[in-house]
Amino acid sequence: MSAAQPVLAPGATIGILGSGQLGRMLALAAARLGLKCHIFSAAAEAPAVDVAHRTTIADYSDTEALARFAADVDVATYEFENVPAAAATFLAERIAVLPDPNVLATTQDRLAEKNFVAALGIPTAPFAAVGEAAALAPALANIGRPAVLKTRRFGYDGKGQAAIGDGTDPATAWREVGGQACILEAFVPFVYEVSVIAARGQDGVVECFDVTQNEHQDHILKISRVPASISAHTAQEALRIAETIAQKFGYVGVLAVELFVMRDGSVLVNEIAPRVHNSGHWTIDGASVSQFEQHIRAVAGWPLAKPLRHGRVEMINLIGSEIEDYRKWLTVPGAVVHLYGKTEVRPGRKMGHVTRVFADESRSFGRPRGAGSARF
Ligand code: AMP
Repeated sequence: MSAAQPVLAPGATIGILGSGQLGRMLALAAARLGLKCHIFSAAAEAPAVDVAHRTTIADYSDTEALARFAADVDVATYEFENVPAAAATFLAERIAVLPDPNVLATTQDRLAEKNFVAALGIPTAPFAAVGEAAALAPALANIGRPAVLKTRRFGYDGKGQAAIGDGTDPATAWREVGGQACILEAFVPFVYEVSVIAARGQDGVVECFDVTQNEHQDHILKISRVPASISAHTAQEALRIAETIAQKFGYVGVLAVELFVMRDGSVLVNEIAPRVHNSGHWTIDGASVSQFEQHIRAVAGWPLAKPLRHGRVEMINLIGSEIEDYRKWLTVPGAVVHLYGKTEVRPGRKMGHVTRVFADESRSFGRPRGAGSARF
């Protein structure tokens, strides 16, 4: 449990652990509300460093740097879920850290996370713990094939995962994930992947954005669309689940719940991200308040906004060399271009995104005239 939750005044400083594009967009949202951000970054060049009031460039194990950081900020938060637990605990002994670092212990471990969700009576894919190689065969017998083997920790964008189909040798899958503690999940024949971005304030009020439908390419989010093509009943259930999770954690800030939608309209929770999320980037241009502003409001002890969506919204990630198209995107009517300032282009790296808002809800997502094959 960290120090008492503060109510900040304009001019106060929010500390952010992590310096990627999520930290950058948090700092920009904070600045618009008259709040300053101090970014704690392991790298000297990083998207959030470019826009911060102050930065500390140090390792997360550097307790002197963490102590100086703590002394300079009024509250601390994070923009990635793999913040080393020791750093979060060290800070929480000195200042309020929101959301509470206890949440990290659950969300950093897929098994703890699935157990947490299941204990709330919320459906997930059937799963089993696989702590060692010898546990894989009995788990497979229990879960059946096809299945997905996932490392318990440090998996993202499909990394640390191996599919186990009819012909797969389990030993190969075990080697593929690096022979470490895993969970085995039944493969889910979902029709859609959706997410809910929920914000919970210090007063316990929860505000959710409309359910977002997500399309992945090579396990990386490519496009988010709102509204999702799901029934009102499915949407309500997804929102109820996200609110339940936020309340149960006693969460303060923004979290994302990723869900699978089944053919019959039922939903299963895939995972929880204890932070602002890529599938919520559409809210910057497509809603009256962004997920970043909601997070800043929550950690500052300010009232949350009730988000109003401006229309039908599409967010397209610019991944790897797709960033080279930014000049073309700049000329697309209505397109809002976000570049994260990353100089090194790497395959699979999120370099920026584009948002398109169509005021007319009924209009389908079409390509503007004259567009080439690259989704302009
Ligand atoms: P994750 O890292 O758990 O979010 O998984 C990355 C992606 O892999 C998800 O967005 C899904 O497309 C797919 N995936 C993960 N778990 C399952 C599952 N149990 N069944 C089917 N597809 C899955």
